[in-house]
Amino acid sequence: MSYVSRANPAKLELHHHLEGAAPPAFIRGLAKEKHMDISGIFDAQGAYKYVDFWDFLKVYEAATSTLQSPEDYARLTRAVLEESAKSGVIYCETFLSPDFCGGRDVGAWREYLLAMREAAEAAERDMGITLRGIVTAIRHFGPDKARQTAVCAAETVGDFIVGFGLAGDETSGAPADFKWSFDCAREAGLHLTAHAGEWGGPESVRAVLADLGVSRVGHGVRAIEDLALVDQLAEQGVVLEVCPGSNVALGVYPSLRKHPIGELYRRGVKVTISTDDPPFFHTTMQAEYAGLHAAFDWDDGVFAEITQTALDAAFCDADTKTKLRKRLETAHD
Ligand SMILES: [Zn+2]
Repeated sequence: MSYVSRANPAKLELHHHLEGAAPPAFIRGLAKEKHMDISGIFDAQGAYKYVDFWDFLKVYEAATSTLQSPEDYARLTRAVLEESAKSGVIYCETFLSPDFCGGRDVGAWREYLLAMREAAEAAERDMGITLRGIVTAIRHFGPDKARQTAVCAAETVGDFIVGFGLAGDETSGAPADFKWSFDCAREAGLHLTAHAGEWGGPESVRAVLADLGVSRVGHGVRAIEDLALVDQLAEQGVVLEVCPGSNVALGVYPSLRKHPIGELYRRGVKVTISTDDPPFFHTTMQAEYAGLHAAFDWDDGVFAEITQTALDAAFCDADTKTKLRKRLETAHD
């Protein structure tokens, strides 16, 4: 079955954290099975609740503490893809962290990966949504652990693991500290992305481009504070994985109308649209589209262009892109 329709167009999502997309009801169920009491992280309606970014990190950590085995991750993958498919997502790249899946041990990581991959293949058959993984180092865990993560990525590169990235606290350390890991991933044939320009300013975007050689930047929106950098992004065709709802929920911008995605798009920067950690930010891909339509009067033509940008920038192989292109062409017939 497919949820795609004229009112719910086919979407591609490039910036998405698997654990961060865990539906609250799924996490509550898992906690109950394991006799863990994490009831404090939910509000009366059962949604995740937090007051600021630091509290958000604590809630996130408590929620993800329930995920402890390959089987848990297989079930998580299924639950997450069901939610994405409802929003019309036909292709999703999700960040996966060997830190949480086997403690950066390559053998354990392979077991987690196999479980997630089988769940993703079943979801593809059942719901028409394709998943690919970007192995992600956690910046505030430091460069040594990032090296082990890069080795996990290099050992499992293929048609499912297609990229390597850097997430976590943007203010911790410098991108150059992670150069070895990114070189290792690049040599293994992985595509590269890094979070920057969300909490850090334009200089953080310049640093991941210069020091890590990424082709995409996670967020990157604070580039707007330096118009020479905006011109550079446009000229070089650097793709930004923009997560408007996430930025508003965490207070990077006060509202969607004040969000720089409209200005970045007008200035020719290749922007894409993603949800980041959707239930934590009370968003979905459908909600992002509706919000951007309301804030910037974007029409179907703009969204089709952005979908094309996401397809071109996707890290999957050419065969997968060809299949996705056909699906986009025929999605609304
Ligand atoms: Zn992110």
